[in-house]
Amino acid sequence: MRLSRYFLPVLKETPAEAQIVSHRLMLRAGMIKQASAGIYSWLPLGFKVLRRIEQIVHEEQARAGHHAMLMPTLQSADLWRESGRYDAYGEEMLRIKDRGGRDMLYTPTAEELITDIFRAHVSSYRDLPLTLYQIQWKFRDEIRPRFGVMRGREFLMKDGYNFDLSKEDALHAYNRHLVSYLRTYERMGLQAIPMRADSGPIGGDDTHEFLVLAETGESEVFYDSAVTDLTFGDRDIDYDDHAQCAAIMEEFTKLYARTDETHDEALFNQVPEDRRRVARGIEVGQIFYFGTKYSDPLGATVQGPDGKPVAVHMGSHGIGVSRLLGAIIEASHDDKGIIWPEGVTPFHAGIVNLKQGDAEADAACEALYASLTALGLEPLYDDRDERAGGKFATMDLIGLPWRITVGPRGLKNGVVELTSRRTGESEEMPPEQAVERLS
Ligand code: ATP
Ligand code: MG
Ligand code: MG
Ligand code: MG
Repeated sequence: MRLSRYFLPVLKETPAEAQIVSHRLMLRAGMIKQASAGIYSWLPLGFKVLRRIEQIVHEEQARAGHHAMLMPTLQSADLWRESGRYDAYGEEMLRIKDRGGRDMLYTPTAEELITDIFRAHVSSYRDLPLTLYQIQWKFRDEIRPRFGVMRGREFLMKDGYNFDLSKEDALHAYNRHLVSYLRTYERMGLQAIPMRADSGPIGGDDTHEFLVLAETGESEVFYDSAVTDLTFGDRDIDYDDHAQCAAIMEEFTKLYARTDETHDEALFNQVPEDRRRVARGIEVGQIFYFGTKYSDPLGATVQGPDGKPVAVHMGSHGIGVSRLLGAIIEASHDDKGIIWPEGVTPFHAGIVNLKQGDAEADAACEALYASLTALGLEPLYDDRDERAGGKFATMDLIGLPWRITVGPRGLKNGVVELTSRRTGESEEMPPEQAVERLS
């Protein structure tokens, strides 16, 4: 992409309405624009990152054997009356009437709708296990939408639902989701710690939230500092292997880590004192096992091996896709701007031409652009006729992991400069070598 032709409406001023750094930086970098309270338009740069996050989620869901699908945002209230949640859900649910006077709602989550699909199409235990998921917009009429996309009213969520014959199988699905989420967050450059949590209006006994530690987080968390040493890395996982997934669940949840809702002072006091931490975190996902809470009232049964009907055991599993942008920026920025982890960066590298219009500099930039593109990378070429300082500031603000700086002086010696956004370190090298380093 050439910056002169892109739509990147960066702001010079710090927007006064933004209280936290990720919100400020997303506005300044021209990623989002508020449409109304808690509702945002995603401008090209923000949308690109959103799509990269979605892509990672899809890849990891596929790896775990889960099937992508899409359900509508607007639902009829009838199903929610059947499950008993229509009245219970409260004011967070946006209720709408259509022209025929029928009660509709904008989906805050989709347990009812997915269970309805399941009961219509699955009738035998032979079709289990089954996990279906979607990445779809949700609406929750939050009392206090704030912090930009972190607590929006309209937000993008991955929500997945497992259907199993027995509690044991459903607990395997729970573990499998935990494992796949660990990988998902790590690929985004995040440490998200699974913590025992409270189930809220989804219901159920077993639930973990995934928290990214950050001072601006809305949850209070209590944990053994040793949990922050755990990394998932590049493990070979057989997602059908119950024992392997259970072992990973055990490894990542045996140390004390809880949100304030389930915090237990007596248990916490058993953690060695120098490892006890009280901090704040951002909830970027949650997994639930809730048994037959929805399959019972909605009649989602299958014929078991003995021919008798069995209510399926279910769980639901969510990732805050749009919230993740905020969480990643909270975890990865400096006073100049965003520092995107390689896994989610909107462009792989920036090319800064120090002297636009200089025949040699222009040609070298074009050549770099072509070589990077040929490698399947996506560079952002700042080809505007602007001062170098302004170009550097823009690149630092939007946080691409690498910058290649090209100018007549360096080219005389046959070199360009490769700079890491994270470390700030620069190195001079021939253009071909810079390309090689990025490939
Ligand atoms: P919170 O405690 O922050 O209100 P929640 O527990 O109500 O979130 P879940 O029902 O667990 O949310 O939804 C799954 C994920 O969706 C959450 O873990 C979070 O990352 C994301 N999410 C929930 N509410 C919002 C929101 N208002 N804006 C952006 N993301 C959200
Ligand atoms: Mg909530
Ligand atoms: Mg919560
Ligand atoms: Mg939650």
